[in-house]
Amino acid sequence: MGMTFDDVVRFHGHACPGLAIGFRMAQEAMEALGATRSDDEEVVAIVENNSCGVDALQCVTGCTFGKGNLIFRDWGKMAYTLYSRRSRKGVRVTFNRNAVPEGMREDRERFTQWVLTVPAATILNIQQVSIDEPEPARIHRSIPCDRCGEFVMETRLQCVDGAHVCIPCVQTLTKNY
Ligand SMILES: [Zn+2]
Ligand SMILES: [Zn+2]
Repeated sequence: MGMTFDDVVRFHGHACPGLAIGFRMAQEAMEALGATRSDDEEVVAIVENNSCGVDALQCVTGCTFGKGNLIFRDWGKMAYTLYSRRSRKGVRVTFNRNAVPEGMREDRERFTQWVLTVPAATILNIQQVSIDEPEPARIHRSIPCDRCGEFVMETRLQCVDGAHVCIPCVQTLTKNY
């Protein structure tokens, strides 16, 4: 069962143009991939920004931060890449800002409605991409930090003068040098 825009608005907290754009992008990408909503880690999403639309993507694709199949690249681009572990195919969808008519942005409600109803081909570019299979999420054990004593996933501990230290403690130590 697909997520409706209302479902997405409920999750995000409000309707906004960014959410509508993310909704269309995620739907198109899923369709191009021939994938269904991911209850496990079959679909992996790579997002190039962390604004409103990513909440729509999480609803539509089932890729979430907590499941480890949502990867954030802080590149400031309105682009999502979806990868299917089953078909080993990837698609990247981007939003075509130039397609937005003059003056449309000023009325957020009208802009949102427009985004939801305009043909996908008008506002979205979609291409097949070949990417390296993203590493599956792994569970690591936790070890206490030698400085603050809080438990830390072992892959995030850093070695400082023979001690195993968490990242915030490393930053504090570095500041004091
Ligand atoms: Zn929003
Ligand atoms: Zn620490």
